[in-house]
Amino acid sequence: MQVTRRQFIKVTAGGLAASSMGVLGFLPSEALAEVRQYKLTRAKEIRNTCPYCSVGCGLLMYSLGDGAKNAKAEIIHIEGDPDHPVSRGSLCPKGAGLLDFIHSPNRLKHPEVREAGSNTWKRISWHEAVERIARHIKDDRDANFVAKNAEGVTVNRWLSTAMLTASASSNETGILTQKVMRSLGIVGTDAQARVCHGPTVSALASTFGRGAMTNTWVDIKNADFILVMGGNPAEAHPVGFKWAIEAKKRGARLVVVDPRFNRSAAVADEYMPIRAGSDIVFLGGVINWLVANDKIQWDYVKAFTNASFIVAEGFGFEDGLFSGFDAAKGQYDRASWNYEFDENGKAKTDPTLQNPRCVWNLMKAHYARYTPDVVTDLTGTPKDGFLRVCEQLGATAVRNRVATILYALGWTQHTVGAQNIRTMAMIQLLLGNIGMPGGGVNALRGHSNIQGLSDLGLLSTSLPGYLNLPAEKANPTFADYIARNTPKAQADGQLNFWGNTPKFFVSLLKWFWGDKATKENDWGYDWLPKWDKMYDVLQVMDLMHNGKVNGFIVQGFNPLTSFPDARKTAASFAKLKYMVVIDPLTTETSSFWQNHGEMNDVDTAGIKTEVFRLPSTCFAEEDGAIVNSARWLQWHYKGADAPGEAKTDQEILAELFVAVRDLYRKEGGAVPEPILNLSWPYKNPLEPTPEELAKEMNGRALADIPDPKDPTRFLARKGEQLPNFAILQADGSTMSACWIFAGSWTQAGNQMARRDNTDAGLGNTPGWAWAWPANRRIIYNRASCDPSGKPWDPKRNLISWNGAAWAGADVPDFKVDSAPSEGMNPFIMNPEGVGRLFCTDKLVDGPFPEHYEPMESPLGTNPLHPKVVNSPAVRMFKADRERLGTHDQFPYVGTTYRLTEHFQFWTKGVRLNAIAQPEQFVEIGEALAAEKGIKAGDWVQVSSKRGHIKAKAVVTKRIKALTVTNRTVHQIGIPLHWGWETVAKKGFLSNTLPPAVGDCNTQTPEYKAFLVNVEKIGVA
Ligand code: SF4
Repeated sequence: MQVTRRQFIKVTAGGLAASSMGVLGFLPSEALAEVRQYKLTRAKEIRNTCPYCSVGCGLLMYSLGDGAKNAKAEIIHIEGDPDHPVSRGSLCPKGAGLLDFIHSPNRLKHPEVREAGSNTWKRISWHEAVERIARHIKDDRDANFVAKNAEGVTVNRWLSTAMLTASASSNETGILTQKVMRSLGIVGTDAQARVCHGPTVSALASTFGRGAMTNTWVDIKNADFILVMGGNPAEAHPVGFKWAIEAKKRGARLVVVDPRFNRSAAVADEYMPIRAGSDIVFLGGVINWLVANDKIQWDYVKAFTNASFIVAEGFGFEDGLFSGFDAAKGQYDRASWNYEFDENGKAKTDPTLQNPRCVWNLMKAHYARYTPDVVTDLTGTPKDGFLRVCEQLGATAVRNRVATILYALGWTQHTVGAQNIRTMAMIQLLLGNIGMPGGGVNALRGHSNIQGLSDLGLLSTSLPGYLNLPAEKANPTFADYIARNTPKAQADGQLNFWGNTPKFFVSLLKWFWGDKATKENDWGYDWLPKWDKMYDVLQVMDLMHNGKVNGFIVQGFNPLTSFPDARKTAASFAKLKYMVVIDPLTTETSSFWQNHGEMNDVDTAGIKTEVFRLPSTCFAEEDGAIVNSARWLQWHYKGADAPGEAKTDQEILAELFVAVRDLYRKEGGAVPEPILNLSWPYKNPLEPTPEELAKEMNGRALADIPDPKDPTRFLARKGEQLPNFAILQADGSTMSACWIFAGSWTQAGNQMARRDNTDAGLGNTPGWAWAWPANRRIIYNRASCDPSGKPWDPKRNLISWNGAAWAGADVPDFKVDSAPSEGMNPFIMNPEGVGRLFCTDKLVDGPFPEHYEPMESPLGTNPLHPKVVNSPAVRMFKADRERLGTHDQFPYVGTTYRLTEHFQFWTKGVRLNAIAQPEQFVEIGEALAAEKGIKAGDWVQVSSKRGHIKAKAVVTKRIKALTVTNRTVHQIGIPLHWGWETVAKKGFLSNTLPPAVGDCNTQTPEYKAFLVNVEKIGVA
């Protein structure tokens, strides 16, 4: 057949269209009978959220099965949700592999037990598992419960069983866990937040009032300058990082400061190397440069920070020590770290900044030591590069230019983790970048719901909504608790939001104990356990190592791969009587008793721990909400049943709790009241639903709540869901399990499920999901306006004072009707109303950040103050101190990190990710490799004082040798992710290497700077 060119195009175009239609399954079967059906034609679409990192990308899941009886739904496809305002249809290699996660061969399907001394798992029924575990719990609790302390204070705590809680489970699981755990008296509890972002909460709350990422993922596009330091978002938060690229397209500059030239650096305008563990020197140097060069946004600093506040006589800093150090205790007495107050309890100020004791002058003097030469000498960063970072940051000390910072565990996982972050928070205050669109301190949370589970207080000494668990010394009674936790305003006219603590706390107690919590019994206050010290993971592991812990409940966590000094962890587990692991996947923790040769060389028969392994659902198999890094509570939906006999965490917890409660009802036992009186109003007591729990977190009225402004009206009627936290009451007439979530499930329904992605301005999408607090997206946004209420930068008009109220594209983080003339300041959670350059007595290691060397220092000294090398406020147990190495034995700096293709220790059970990164490796710079005769692909052994790993060597230009105090410092990059429960190649536990020591304030382990040696052990 002859065809003209015109005819050819027509025919082929039609043919293309036809074949595309055919592939999509739209053509009549008669015409193209052999073409397969579009695979999603008969599928059901379900919305969900990626369970890995805190970007919280939207997912569309497709399940097969029409819902008819005997038709079992199965997830057959997952793709990015194009409507999602952050991810806009994108998924990174982890999200793209989620189908393989759901169908991983490592999914658990049945309850199992490993009996004492056995070398095998035995399948058991749920009934047997629950009965046996409940028996362990009851026996251990009865034998070891502490009802009163030596002073006779009721403490009602149970320390001999500890619990770890999940980082990717829903808020609904989290809140039920909180309820069950505290009713039992557990204080030895922690979550992944301890291992990751604990210092973020300490640092940001002590500076701004709240411990959360200040801005949003999309808002990063509004920045003029982006500093990535202490994080690697291109790799760890790939989809969120696209908003940094959007900013670049608008003309922003992106600079990366990191020990490694990583994937973020690969797309940056500039990269600066730095010695791991020297960030405060760099950032302190930035403060010094900003002050010396007058790159300060003065209007902001004078109005919105405590620069003018006068510090009390007695505060000082000399030779590496702040005032009040008690060498015998290894702790500071922080009494002198405060303001000078007048007779009315208000802090004195000097707005002229002339007083030598005002914060400004003390700060200036403190950082005068951090000259550019000192920075270069201690960090190894080139001086010209450091100065360029200073200049670029300094260029934003004006109204119309804004810088942001993206950081993660590269800052938190140090003994000075909180202070690393504090230094940057101070810089952003000096530049006037807090509260601004495109500004802020963006703490990039790691796990998908670690923000939510922190919000829910799943940490040793916390309660939901950042309330404190009572302390035996400070809060023996309810009245003491209220007095100590309800601050008074330290400046006139300030909102001092924590002044509402009694309303939040009483509403929480009403949730715990319902009608049994009465005014007469102080709302059941004594049924909460009281702490004597923090039982963080390092503390609990040390107690376990000393044989003082009998039981360990591990929910969605893999501590053997996550805690420092893995060998000590494994030895500690072997001393337990029972361990309960609740997880969708096999974990090294649950099989710690198996011998895996050099990777886990244990005496299986000698380990008498009874281990229960309970299969739980994963994200795709449950409803609920998780909270992304930007504080968005996003609701997701179940797409299919879990494999085998797996159950939701809520069902597992409820069955265990009801079984324990039944035992107490039948047998009595140690202080049963907190358990027997626990409010358990769920329709099916064995399976509280996500909806029931979400509504409880929001809270409801237990009586009619009259409107104080108009007694004929009510703010809420009895039984109604509360509209917000403003109407919570301290008289028992409201309940709320987590006051900051009030507003998430109102009378109008589930606000977390909203899907309006309309851009209200500057990329703000207030109709998508719901953000705490009160759906505010950029916190401290009052500070985006000058004191008169006008935006500092008209291009960044987020909210402003319209003459009658604060209004705009975001919900004002402020009293909406407080006129600028009233003088209320933007940091409403702080009793002084301003951001803190000097953080008074809020942190244990100083009101100003100071550089201290990592506990294992490659220098062995601290040139700033040689007598005080490491942080004096470090807490370290004797056994761990003995396991510290020195630079003569272990001359190189080890630093751990994540890869794009993997998420922690979960994706090694996921085929797609295992294919993408199948084998363990370490990164070694070319200079060190040449010195050691190591070539790419050779086998090397990396060792520390605590053990060794073996891995393939990647010899790279990405890690350069640095010159620090006239010596050469080599650094070795150690990715996480490997273990023996894997579909990839088996690998060593990288956390064998780092020491068991944590950030002074939060005990987040020092994974980012420790000492190692490296040797070649085999050729490629
Ligand atoms: S891992 Fe993070 S960036 Fe990747 S798809 Fe999931 S939520 Fe998005």
